Amino acid sequence: MVEALRNPRLHGFGTTIFAEMSALAAKTGAVNLGQGFPDTDGPASVAEIAAHCVLEGPNQYPPLPGQPDLRAAVAEHQLRFRNLSWNPDTEVLITAGATEAIAASMFALCDHGDEVVVFEPTYDSYMASIAMAGATAKPVLLAAPDHGLDVEAFHAAITDKTRLILLNTPHNPTGKVFTSDELAVIAAAAVEHDLIVIADEVYEHMVFEGEHIPIARYDGMRDRTISIGSAGKSFSFTGWKVGWLTAAPELRGAVMTAKQFLTFVNAGPLQPAVAAGLRLPDSYFTGMRNDLLAKRNRLQSGLDAAGFDTLTCEGTYFLTVDIRSWAEAHGLPTTSIEFCLALPERAGVVAVPSEVFYQTKEAGRHLARFAFCKQDAVLDDAIARLSSA
Ligand code: PMP
Ligand code: GLN
Repeated sequence: MVEALRNPRLHGFGTTIFAEMSALAAKTGAVNLGQGFPDTDGPASVAEIAAHCVLEGPNQYPPLPGQPDLRAAVAEHQLRFRNLSWNPDTEVLITAGATEAIAASMFALCDHGDEVVVFEPTYDSYMASIAMAGATAKPVLLAAPDHGLDVEAFHAAITDKTRLILLNTPHNPTGKVFTSDELAVIAAAAVEHDLIVIADEVYEHMVFEGEHIPIARYDGMRDRTISIGSAGKSFSFTGWKVGWLTAAPELRGAVMTAKQFLTFVNAGPLQPAVAAGLRLPDSYFTGMRNDLLAKRNRLQSGLDAAGFDTLTCEGTYFLTVDIRSWAEAHGLPTTSIEFCLALPERAGVVAVPSEVFYQTKEAGRHLARFAFCKQDAVLDDAIARLSSA
């Protein structure tokens, strides 16, 4: 589409990198470690409930905030794993994936000219949601290779126009898990400046080092935090697009006002299945985490042996590499977009160029992201291709 046809707020947002790289994988027959989706579906017991509900109902619109039993299950899950107590009737909202929860929060809470502090690299929908809301992003760089929070830069990003802080931990694409000290700094600033925090916690169950600490648990944060989860991530059903958020009643109400005009509701027959997923025993969640940890180790040691410089991955299902030495040794461009476009032809593997997640482009120009939520044989195939390239 011609750029001029688009609302100026959408200028610069073409096709998402995930769709683009998956199309490239399909076209070239390359192993797709680009777009983050598992190649094995989630628990059969959960899928069976969904199948039953499609056949027997409920198949009509669920209530606007989501089916009561799913809202209860979200609250139980938050209490069990996060030690946070939410009223399912007034403080839980079911959404069309985490993506809608993020967009609806932006539309509900931001006015034209408001500023949103984000930590770059940012997940791709963040910048677009902020732009569509007419707000302005104020990025704070998490610099590779450590991705630590630069406290001074964070404080400098807050102005009298700041409305929100958009936090993602565990963090896509870096695999960083924010530490308790970093979260304490963010929470203190939110309280001091009276800001709302949107906490995208879709990878909450995929933590390998350290622990996932919800920022809603810090002093003064419960009633100013919107915490977001996703069945796509927690149960490996990314195509279902069922997400949820928890927030104090007034905040939830504001987001629900925007949400009702985006999708109103979604996924009626899948909602009972997600409720059952949230009530699975602890062993399901630790099992998924341990499986992914083994996959992280498998890919990381394979890429290390193939000559890549891999960065630390504490959580999520993404591993970042510094491409420069490998690219030079193999006669490929050392800039991430050009590298990732050439890699499928050269080595038969698709990765995502991390540069697209950065506003400070040069900070991500040497980085690429590989997804390891794949079957072992697929990971081994990708490693073998890269090793013999
Ligand atoms: N936030 C982050 C950090 C993600 O990686 C993703 C991608 N799955 C989403 C949100 C979107 O989740 P959903 O598919 O539930 O919309
Ligand atoms: N969250 C996934 C990723 O980061 C992809 C989601 C999507 O394709 N929109 O790769």
